[in-house]
This record gives sequence, C-alpha cells and structure tokens, in this order.
Amino acid sequence: MENTAPADTFFTRRLAQKGQPLIIAGPCSAESEEQVLTVARALKAAGQADMYRAGIWKPRTKPGGFEGRGAAALPWLQAARAETGLPMAIEVATPKHVEDALRHGIDVLWIGARTTVNPFAVQELADALAGTGTPVMVKNPVNPDLALWAGALERLERAGITDLAAIHRGFSTFAPSRYRNAPTWAIPIELKTRYPQLPLINDPSHIGGARDLLLPIAQKALDLDYDGLIIETHPDPDHALSDAAQQVTPARLQELLSELKYRYRSSDNADYRNKAEELRQKMDTADHEILEMLARRMALIQELAEYKKENNVKILQLERWQEIFKTRPEWGRKLNIDEKFVGELYKLIHIESIRQQTQVLNGRPIDGPTHLGPGL
Ligand code: PEP
Ligand code: MN
Repeated sequence: MENTAPADTFFTRRLAQKGQPLIIAGPCSAESEEQVLTVARALKAAGQADMYRAGIWKPRTKPGGFEGRGAAALPWLQAARAETGLPMAIEVATPKHVEDALRHGIDVLWIGARTTVNPFAVQELADALAGTGTPVMVKNPVNPDLALWAGALERLERAGITDLAAIHRGFSTFAPSRYRNAPTWAIPIELKTRYPQLPLINDPSHIGGARDLLLPIAQKALDLDYDGLIIETHPDPDHALSDAAQQVTPARLQELLSELKYRYRSSDNADYRNKAEELRQKMDTADHEILEMLARRMALIQELAEYKKENNVKILQLERWQEIFKTRPEWGRKLNIDEKFVGELYKLIHIESIRQQTQVLNGRPIDGPTHLGPGL
C-alpha cells in the first residue's frame, strides 16, 4: 500500500470534520426491522454515532447458529438510513454480498476477520468492488499476521478502492485469556507505523467479548491515537441472537462514550512543550548509556566466546542462563522495572549472545541479529 497516498477519503474527510474519533455502532446482527430501527433511532437521538453497523450474513464458527437474516434485512437498513441519515455499514464475504449490498444503497462495506485470512476471497471481493468507489473497512485476520492484514488492504487498493480503513478486532488464541480475541496491540501499532494515513478503528466488542471490558479497551485505543471505535449495540443485549455477552444498549453506549477520556494528540501549552522536550532529551542520554552498557556486555560475550573456543567448551551453558533468568527479573523488580519485561529483554540478549558466540566458535552466522527463527 502507498503510505504516502493523499489522505482525502470518505473516512478522513469525516474525521477532519468531526475532529474526534468516529463512532460506529449498531447490532452484531440485524434481527428484525423493528430492532434495526429501534437502535438506529436511539443512536440518532443521542447524536454520537457517525455510522451504523449491522451483520446481515454472519460467519459462524460452527453450523447451526444464527447465520443472519441475509438479503431480506437490506431493506431494513435502507429504511434506517432514510429515517436517520446515518451511513450504513455491513460485512461482505462474497461478490454476491457486494452486489446485493450496493443494490440496496449500503454506504460502507467491511471485510470480516474470517475473510481477511483468505487471499482468494479478498481478491474476489476486490474484483467485485473495482470501479464502485465504495469505502471499505478491513478487519484484521483471525490470526496475528500483519502481512495478511496489509495484503488484504493492498489487494483492494490495487483494484482502485482507496477509501479504506482498518478495524482492529483482536486475534484468536488457543490459550485461555481474559479477552475473547487477544488485542496484541503491537500489530495494529505496526500497521499504523507503516500506513500513517490509514484510519485505524478499534473494535472493543470483539476483542473483549464482554461488556465490562469495553471501556478499558476503548480507552487504551484512544490513548494509542486510534481514529474510531466500532461498538455493538442492541436494544436487548441479553437476548441478542449473536454475541449477546458483549453488546450494550444504546443508553449504555452513550454512558460509555462519556466515560472515555478524549486526550489531545499534543499540546500548545509552552510549559508542556518545554518539559516534554527536556524529558525527551534526558531519555536520549539514557538511551546512549543503555547502548554503551549493552556494547560493554557484548564485548564481554566476545571475550568469553574466544576463551571457550581455546578451551573447546560448548556455547550453551544452561545453568548459567537459568541463573540469569532467575536473578535479572528479581534485580529489575528491586529497581521497579516489570519482571516480565526484564525476562523478555534477557531472552533477546540470550539469543544475541548465542549468535555472537556461534560466530566466534564456528565463524559462520546462521541468523540475523535477534532473529527468533529456527537457527537458535
Ligand atoms: C462482526 O463484526 O459482527 C463480526 C463477525 O466480526 P469479526 O469478523 O471481527 O469476527
Ligand atoms: Mn459480533
């Protein structure tokens, strides 16, 4: 994707007009005309939503669940749009979905997490969308793979779809977790770093999977400079036909939005600027010191490796490293540094140490620096 592309799109224009994160709200699934309209009216009255979302075709992990009302629900969204003026967004997974949606005047389409994983499916959607000028939001794939996410966006862009946004909805994990889908914030942050012009929307409903997690997740997203939130909203969440545990009423949504702290990107306040600049300069100095210390440690590693070579001693000294992994987090804790962080840091140092020692003993590097690959 072009990361220098001009930022004048459906999403960026709305963002510029609003000067605040976009709010997309609506039920997980469109269940009935009455439900669709009830939520749309409540959102309109509260005046905080910029776009309406509803699932028409629901990709379910197992067969037998509620799979959505299908094309029969499209006129309900048309009616909600006509009455409230809210732009309508739905999920599409096949070219037929695209055709039906556009025929019913749906404004924005999104590609769901289970579709983003499949380049064939994404390409078919891109081909179906080519020349339509439809704004499209691309959810992250279910697996934590930045390249697939970016690849899907690129396929659309190459088909001439340039009104794009990304939705971060979290990633499946096998291990039990407090989240329904682990946020793994490093991935959307990397996407944002690569494509600073691309609006990034957070989906706390599907990350959290539970109402009480919406606020902390949404707050974190705003603090990470996301451009919007998509939050599932249902008139009677407990009886929703899909994703009951994570949906909130429009009234609760309003409360939630007022509980969020909207912070500034920066500040013009001269005191703030001076103090921040001073602290950053001190951090620059601290970083120089950290790197000088690391260089000192690396030199010691080299010296030890030469000595091991002379004495024909193996690289991996398990007991030594077990001792390091035990003591360093503890030393860190005494200095008020998070133990897990120190553990991760020493894992990286260990990998680099092994790489350097391998080079000294055998003279041929297998991996690049700090590569977590199989060569370890
Ligand atoms: C949804 O938004 O209702 C949905 C199915 O989401 P995801 O593709 O993120 O699972
Ligand atoms: Mn849902």
